[in-house]
Amino acid sequence: MINADKALRIILGAVPPPGKETVDLPDAPGRTAAEHIVAGGDIPPFRNSSMDGYAVRAADLKSASSGRPVTLTVAGESSAGNPFSGRLGKGQALRIMTGGKLPRGTDAVVPVEKTKEEGPRAVSFHEPAKAGDCVRLAGEDIPRGRRVIAAGELITPYHSGILAATGHDEVSVSVRPRVGILATGDELVRPGRAPGEGKIRNSSSYTLIGLVRESGGRPRFLGIVRDRKTAIREKISEGLAFDVLLLTGGVSVGAHDYVGEALRRSGVDIRFWRVNIRPGSPLLFGVADGTLVFGLPGNPVSTAVTFLQFVRPALRKMLGRTDIFPVHVHALTDEPLNVKDGKRCFLRGIAREEDGVLRVKTTGSQSSGVMTSLTRANCLILIPEGTRTVRGGSPVEVEFFHDPF
Ligand code: AMP
Ligand code: MG
Repeated sequence: MINADKALRIILGAVPPPGKETVDLPDAPGRTAAEHIVAGGDIPPFRNSSMDGYAVRAADLKSASSGRPVTLTVAGESSAGNPFSGRLGKGQALRIMTGGKLPRGTDAVVPVEKTKEEGPRAVSFHEPAKAGDCVRLAGEDIPRGRRVIAAGELITPYHSGILAATGHDEVSVSVRPRVGILATGDELVRPGRAPGEGKIRNSSSYTLIGLVRESGGRPRFLGIVRDRKTAIREKISEGLAFDVLLLTGGVSVGAHDYVGEALRRSGVDIRFWRVNIRPGSPLLFGVADGTLVFGLPGNPVSTAVTFLQFVRPALRKMLGRTDIFPVHVHALTDEPLNVKDGKRCFLRGIAREEDGVLRVKTTGSQSSGVMTSLTRANCLILIPEGTRTVRGGSPVEVEFFHDPF
């Protein structure tokens, strides 16, 4: 049996390079940038005001005080989108709005609250101003030529804003892998059906559909197949048209676990079967004609954990993402943790901050059939291989379901 690190190396080594496509900017968030993108011009594009007030030359207000205010002539107005074309001379001020272009000859803006109108064309100032006050310089956010997104970065809504500001209405992104999901098991029925005696509803496929989507893939549910060798093989040949095929169930050592054999007979090159982890040790991985094939164990928690640990990094790498692995942080465990067999363990945890310290506790029963241990959790607690007990109050490694940073 190989360990989790070796299994990951084998999987990542089999990932093909990402393809590229172009999407319209509104569809960019959640996609992965396929190329570096640089700003074609300065942002902001021109010097402008950050306040509603008066653009002035600071030198004019040097002597201003509440006892001896300085009065300037108002030469006109500059509002956002409607610049003042002239140049300001000594003794002049310009009424200016937030986003309005600063006219030549001025170097500061005094907010309107600090001024007093002295008739239609005069305004007084009661304190000095400093050059640069309330002024946003051209290019102070993004100078022309600066990279605004790197290839392999996840495009966020904030990136979309910057891409728009720098003149991109289309973006080159990596193609989302198509992921076929196949459930195996005589016991499984669709969620809308009442399960007969000894049957259960297929639940794991729906967890996988969501996880694939969250990980940047395009999920397609291929249905439920019975524990019959030929039926499984037929569905596998359908599944091998996808970039990734995820099967659940039938991958262990039970009398009706035919997935491994069916894959082999379908021409899938099995790269490993069984990993030294808990839950999820029956995990199988193979490759056929450019399709990555994962045989995930059927227990809902095992399915989810093996997806997070092995399938998600593969999908991210297929997308060309530079951050393939989730962030790990340390938290203090509220309770002692006992691990039976020294396997690398993934416990479902609830992490929280208390007085500036990150603490974590388990979600209760860690049996791999207990789905509530996942819905109540926000992280996995990682127990390294070979560790059998962790004392209460000691630090453990934690991996959030959604990266906090
Ligand atoms: P298996 O991996 O086929 O040995 O199944 C292990 C356990 O997971 C059994 O209790 C199955 O009934 C259950 N199981 C398998 N597939 C699913 C599924 N798609 N949804 C929910 N439970 C499943
Ligand atoms: Mg089964």
